This record gives sequence, structure tokens and C-alpha cells, in this order.
Amino acid sequence: MAPAKGKILIISAPSGSGKTTILKRVLAETPEVTYSVSATTRKPRSNDVHGKDYFFVSEEEFLKGIKEGAFVEWEKVYDYYYGTYKNFIFDIINQGRHILLEIDVKGALNIKSQFPESVSVFIIPPDIETLRQRLQNRKTESEADLKKRLDLAVHELQEKDKFDYRVVNAELDTAVKELHDLILKIIKKEN
Ligand code: 5GP
Repeated sequence: MAPAKGKILIISAPSGSGKTTILKRVLAETPEVTYSVSATTRKPRSNDVHGKDYFFVSEEEFLKGIKEGAFVEWEKVYDYYYGTYKNFIFDIINQGRHILLEIDVKGALNIKSQFPESVSVFIIPPDIETLRQRLQNRKTESEADLKKRLDLAVHELQEKDKFDYRVVNAELDTAVKELHDLILKIIKKEN
């Protein structure tokens, strides 16, 4: 008998909400869940590892992927393309393992409409000023990119009620525990 399909977990959060830090810790504690590695045309940051954080591809390669139907969803976010590989997620869930997608709000709502049984979580930053400070301290974006990220963050925050669950990242350890407990609860729940 084929194994039961794994679950699709979708996590969204505005840029600078601390989601990458939270997710790294949560994933390290949750071996049952595999991280979906997206493709992007943005340039790698210093800590980014190709094939682990993203598949960093050229715009030409990305557009070819769109044409060939390689992505289950894709979006242009802050001038760069980002997309979730269809094969990546199906390979995992068809083996009965769970997959976690860390994608923007539009992508999350798109996946949710294609896969109503998927479960979505929004990570809420404590406030906009903290977001701004986190982005500035990170020093990975130009002034123009930073402004784009903040504007989009304000817009994305308005969509938080469309998600199944919300986790506030005011204090890191608390947010990690809350998200970890929530993921365990979701993957243990029978459909
Ligand atoms: P960053 O450049 O900071 O790694 O990510 C920028 C934004 O793109 C984040 O909101 C992130 O969640 C989103 N993102 C990353 N991968 C994907 C993807 O495959 N699809 C979509 N729609 N958004 C993505």
C-alpha cells in the first residue's frame, strides 16, 4: 500500500520578521519535516548556500522553468523571481514525508488554493520599527531594496488573517517553541 501523503506546511512572514532564524532552529528540531528549496534569481547573500537555502539561477533559466511547468507556484518579489519546484514537493509528500515551504504571502495563498489541505502559518513581527531595525542591521540590502521590503511588509501584514495560524516573534525562544509545537501538532493530526 502506498504511504499516506505527507503534509504541506506553508510559512510566510514579512522580510525582517526573523523567520529565517526561527525556521533554522525549528527545522533542526523537526527531522520529520523537509525544507522546500526554491529557485530564485536574486544574488546569494554571504551565508546563502546553493541547493540548501535556494537554487540560485539566472533569469533565463528561471523563465525556462516557468515555460516547462517546473514550478507549482512562482512570484516576482522585489524585482527577483522566486519559485517552488513541483518535483521537489511531490517527491517528498508522495513518500509520506512532510514539506515546509517558506514563501511570500501571495505564493502562500496560491498554494493554499491549489492544496486546500495544506496548513499555513504567518509569523508576525513585533512592530514595523523593529522590522526596519532588523533590516538595517542586516546590511544586506541597498536603501532602495530596504524601502521596497518595508513597504511590502506593511502590505503583507494586512493579509495575516487569511492564514490558518499566526505566531508572534517578539521573543526568539518563545517563537521557536510555539512554532515547533504547532508543527508537531499539525503533522500528528489525522486528515
Ligand atoms: P529572501 O530574498 O529574503 O530570501 O526572500 C524574499 C521573499 O521571497 C520572502 O518573502 C520569501 O518568503 C519569498 N520566497 C522565497 N521563496 C519563494 C518561492 O518559492 N515562492 C514565493 N512565492 N516566494 C518565495
